[in-house]
Order: sequence, then structure tokens, then C-alpha cells
Amino acid sequence: MDDYQPVLLANVGVENSYTRAVYEARGGYSTLRRVLREFTPARVVEAVRASGLRGRGGAGFLTGLKWSFLPADRAGPVYLCVNADESEPGTFCNRVLMEHDPHQVLEGTILSCFANRASTAYIYLRYEYPLCLRRLQQAVDECYQAGYLGKNILGSGFDLDIYLHRGAAAYICGEETGLIESLEGKRAWPRIKPPFPAVEGLFRKPTVVNNVETLACVRHILERGPEWFRSLGTPPEPGNPQDPGSFGPKLYCVSGHVERPGCYEGPLGVPCRTIIDHWAGGVWKGRKVKAVVPGGLSTGLLTAEELDVPMDFNGPVKAGCLGLGTAGLIVMDETYSMIDFLYNSCRFFAHESCGQCTPCREGTSWTLRIMERIRSGGGRLKDLDLLVEIAEGMGITPGTTICGLADGAAWPIKNAIRKFRPEFEDYIRRTNPRGYLASHPVPALSGPAMPRLENTSPRVGSGDGRSQVPAAGGSPPWRKTLPLA
Ligand code: SF4
Repeated sequence: MDDYQPVLLANVGVENSYTRAVYEARGGYSTLRRVLREFTPARVVEAVRASGLRGRGGAGFLTGLKWSFLPADRAGPVYLCVNADESEPGTFCNRVLMEHDPHQVLEGTILSCFANRASTAYIYLRYEYPLCLRRLQQAVDECYQAGYLGKNILGSGFDLDIYLHRGAAAYICGEETGLIESLEGKRAWPRIKPPFPAVEGLFRKPTVVNNVETLACVRHILERGPEWFRSLGTPPEPGNPQDPGSFGPKLYCVSGHVERPGCYEGPLGVPCRTIIDHWAGGVWKGRKVKAVVPGGLSTGLLTAEELDVPMDFNGPVKAGCLGLGTAGLIVMDETYSMIDFLYNSCRFFAHESCGQCTPCREGTSWTLRIMERIRSGGGRLKDLDLLVEIAEGMGITPGTTICGLADGAAWPIKNAIRKFRPEFEDYIRRTNPRGYLASHPVPALSGPAMPRLENTSPRVGSGDGRSQVPAAGGSPPWRKTLPLA
């Protein structure tokens, strides 16, 4: 791992890396030319399947397997949707790729469309990414000029059009069927599945939805081979048939209380501690780490004692988190309040719930109001069990909701209270000395609103990238420059 050379970020930091001229000068589109000349679509699918590539957007589903779900006898159109609605708090890997190397994303997209015989692709882009919009549009225009898009691409007989679609800033549009509904011009309500998008997706036609980083990996699999891809990462866990392994390069973005927040690249399975201490420069101001969100807010929390977990698809799960998620780490130092963390988390998910499912709509609302009550000094010890009970009942995991947003809302609650319960109990006892043991009557949540407190903890960076400040001197924050321990 010491001599790992960036693959996905190889062009980042090069002057004008977002232009076709620079991308081609550094070997770009040579894979597309070779594949269109020598490969059949089935061979591309087989290469991706053999590589063990898993989706980088959060769920970690096997990409080749997902593609194989498209009906073999399809007569009508097939669509490919690029999920660029990167709205998980703490996540900005895709933004770095789209801003600095949009042609890498497009080459992977074109290759994936060829594999799936899709002649139309939509890039669904997060509203808050205006520079990505400009860079991607310029890159798409350059591709049409060069014959990489349009009719009869490079004389291969393959046709493809790519359209950019800017979302309107809703977290739920990152869920693949919510994204599809939004693309169709409707409210982004996730669909009940089945049917899955591979059978009935955009405009009720077979559709593949893949994440930006996933598609960028496709180009490198075809250029270097599936064996190279499988040489990076973590093999399947022995005796665990559910684990297909975690292979390939991965972008890790780090925000919050570290010296060098930024986007870093390494193989899957790098220990969380290495990313924080060696790549991101350690916790800022000489402080100690208190907690880390391993893969975007919805994945939950790691404690300081759990930082040796490998950042692969299995590692954070073993520490009680939801999963690897987007590998967007948010680091919180020892001064940060877990009450503030959980209040902010509940507020986010209550705001973003689409409201279709009662456990999610009501659960996210109730947990926010309980956290408001605790935070403003009216909490009871019993509220902690109540929060966990509500969290246990909402999500796909207990089988009560349509999509995974409710699981994402539940995991920070479960992790924060189980792993930091003494801090919550101490806060409740201190702020509500006369009522912390109260159980009857239950204070009405619908009563007069508790005064809202301002967040007094240092702000933790969010997915909008505002916390991504360049390191003082040295290399830009997205380059891995330090050797691994
Ligand atoms: Fe909407 Fe929540 Fe149900 Fe997802 S789980 S469909 S966000 S109400």
C-alpha cells in the first residue's frame, strides 16, 4: 500500500485537467477507442463482473450483477442514469471527479452505455454543484465535437446521447427510483420495488443507475484488466457467503476537525485511522478524536477505539455502523457535543424525509422533537430508550419503509446513544435536575415548543465542501502524498 499510485485522481492537480485536450494527452479515450474496436458489449459486462466492482454510491451492490438484470430480450430503449446527486452529508468524492476530470466520468459512462446497449444517458446532477455543471457541459460538448458522442461513434455503429439534468436540491433524489421519478418531472418519491429499475425504470423502460465514481472505475477495469482491479482491496471474508469482497481503488473524503480535510485515494480497506492520521494530518489543534462518521451521516458513528476498522464494505458494519456508505468521513474532536451531533442529524433527516412511509415521516419527526426537548433542557433519561425504540422500528432493515432514508436516519440515533450514552445521561441530569427521572405523565411533544438553542460546538464540515480548505503549503488536499503507515 505504501507505493500506491492514484488512479482515479491521477489527473487532478494537472493544469486544465478538465479539458479534452489534456485528458487525451494523458491517455484518455484510448480505452474507448480500443473497446469499440475489439470488444462486444457482453465482453465488457463480463470484464466488469469479473472485476468484482461494487457501487460506490452507498449500497455497494455488484455492478456487473446489476447490469445482468437487464432483460436479455429487450426490444425498446435502455437508459443509463448517472447518479451525480451527491447529497449525503460529508461526501464530496464525486464533486472532485466531475470538477477536475469530467472526461474520465464521461469515458466510463460511454463504455457502460456500450456494455448495456443504452443509446441515451442522463447525468442527474446535484443542484449545489454549479462548477460541475459547467465543466460537465463543456466536456459533453467536446465529446460531440470529437465524435465520442452522437451517431456512429468512432465508426463503430454505436449511437449515444448524454443529457445533463440539474436536480433541485433534495436528498431523496439520490435514491435511484426517486432520481428516476424526478427525471420524469415528478415529485421524487421513491418507488415500491419490485419492479426494479433494470426491468421498469425511467419512462417505464429498462434502466441502469450508477454512481459517478463507479462509472469512472469502469474505464480503468477495461484498460488494466479485472485482475488488476481485484489485486487492490480486501478479499471475501472466509465463511461469509454474503461478502463478495471489496476490490479496487476508492476515494475517501475527509471533513470536520482534521488538519487537512480533502479527498484522498487509496485501495479499499485502508484503516480509518490511517486516513485520518496520515492522510488528513490528524485531528486539528492537537486534540484527540472523539467520534468519526465513517461513510456519510447515515452510516452512524465510530468511537475513538474503533478507528482501526478497515474502510471496506464490511469493516464499518463490524463496528455496528450501517456500512461503508460513500466513504465520506466526518471527524469530531473531543470538544464536540454528541447531543449537538444527534440533534443536527435528526433535523437533517426529518427535513429530507419525503413523507410517504409513516414510520419514516413520523419517526424522523418524533426523534427530532425529542432531541429538541433534550437539548433545550427538558430531557428525561427515559427519552434515550424511546429514541432507540423509534429508531429500531423504521427503515428497510425492519421492513417498514420503501427506501433506505429511514435506515440512514436511524443509525446515527442507535450508534450515538449506544456508544455515547453516559454523555447523554450526564447532559440530561445536568440540564433537567428536577425532571430527568420523570416518567408520568409523559411530557406532550405537541405542547409549547421548546426554545431552540444555537449550536455552540465548532461546525463540522458538510457535503457542500465548505470545509475543504487547502492545506497550508504542500500538496493540494485531494492528493495522497504521504506514505501509509
Ligand atoms: Fe420517503 Fe422515508 Fe419512505 Fe424513503 S423511507 S420513501 S424517504 S418516507
